[in-house]
Amino acid sequence: MTVSVPASRAECAALDAVDPLAALRKEFTLPANGIYLDGNSLGVLPVRTPEIVRRTVEEEWGQGLITSWNAAGWTELPFVLGDRIAPLVGAGAGEVLVCDSVSVNLFKLLTAALRLRPGRRTVLGERDTFPTDLYIAEGVTGLFEGGRSVLLDSLDDLDAHLDDSVAAVVLSQVDYRTGVLLDMAEITERVHRAGALMIWDLCHSAGALPIDLTACDVDFAVGCTYKYLNAGPCAPGFLYAAPRHHAVAEQPLTGWFGHAEPFAFTPEYRPADGIGRFLTSFPSLLALAGLRASLEIWEQVDLNQVRAKSLALTGLFMDQCADLEVVTPVQPERRGSQVAIRFPDGFAVVQALIERGVIGDFRAPDLMRFGFTPLYSSYTDAWDAAQALREVLASGEWRAERFGRRGAVT
Ligand SMILES: *Cc1c(COP(=O)(O)O)cnc(C)c1O
Repeated sequence: MTVSVPASRAECAALDAVDPLAALRKEFTLPANGIYLDGNSLGVLPVRTPEIVRRTVEEEWGQGLITSWNAAGWTELPFVLGDRIAPLVGAGAGEVLVCDSVSVNLFKLLTAALRLRPGRRTVLGERDTFPTDLYIAEGVTGLFEGGRSVLLDSLDDLDAHLDDSVAAVVLSQVDYRTGVLLDMAEITERVHRAGALMIWDLCHSAGALPIDLTACDVDFAVGCTYKYLNAGPCAPGFLYAAPRHHAVAEQPLTGWFGHAEPFAFTPEYRPADGIGRFLTSFPSLLALAGLRASLEIWEQVDLNQVRAKSLALTGLFMDQCADLEVVTPVQPERRGSQVAIRFPDGFAVVQALIERGVIGDFRAPDLMRFGFTPLYSSYTDAWDAAQALREVLASGEWRAERFGRRGAVT
């Protein structure tokens, strides 16, 4: 795969003029005088969201009150919204559920996976992955006698660890720090050959590139809606379970909404058929309203166009920063939609960029991250951001004392 890279701001403007996704930019509330390159951490506010949230609050809750459970279709939302996410991840109807957070969903699926592989008690993950996934693996394996969570220093060690003690492997399709994209089909097949189950974390890939969970024969997946999907801060997560597991998977958080008949109020738990058994409680209706709104936009989006633009944006940014220590792979098939640059004082550099209106972020110990979101990032944004970074570094302005102070969230 080769991607040609624009070499001037004028070329970027020309690409913006013919960009098939350009019209979607007006769907989003963007900073007035800035360039937002952190949609891989918190997606921006869609223009349509406040009105949909207002209607949910004032009409469905305020006026409809309890009748809205049926009249406004509240009871169906975890399923309906899951079905709308399904095409974004290559799943079918009834295979994706919106609920809880990524961590809680991983807890449910990983426990179910261990129960599906009795006699196997090891979970493999990558040491450098997003830590909550590792913490959950540690928590889940701690509940099983002989359970252990093994952290690989590198995926090169995967085969050496894939013995008959391994119940499940948990990996992020795109690494949150480096932007490395893994080969979902190839790794899933290798894990299956060893008799283990494969769980993918899609937080940095859902909405950033086409995903095909069905073709890759994935067992389970979790994902996030507040990053590339723009559902709003702390919006609920989603989970996927392959249909072959629906009737047999036993998740541990057996709350009333995962019951076959929640409103029969029987004392014994009986799991729902299908994906519904992975529900525990009902997700926040107000948070779901943000997702309802943003998924309307995603219905108009062709993910192949998203991928092509994403690779062009990251490609041109990397090209402009080629003299820096870019850790994101240059090969298009090996990267997601962000660029990570190693720089020990990256925190201060990112703060200096934010003062200039270019919003990226920093991940300890030494990586600056710049996320590109093709629905609202333009080619000229990527160009201008790269020039701002070059200027901040060349001038040394990041050395000013005020850029060294850290808040609670970096
Ligand atoms: C953002 C992110 C999460 C978020 O987890 P929550 O439990 O929803 O807060 C989990 N895993 C990865 C890889 C992420 O990038």
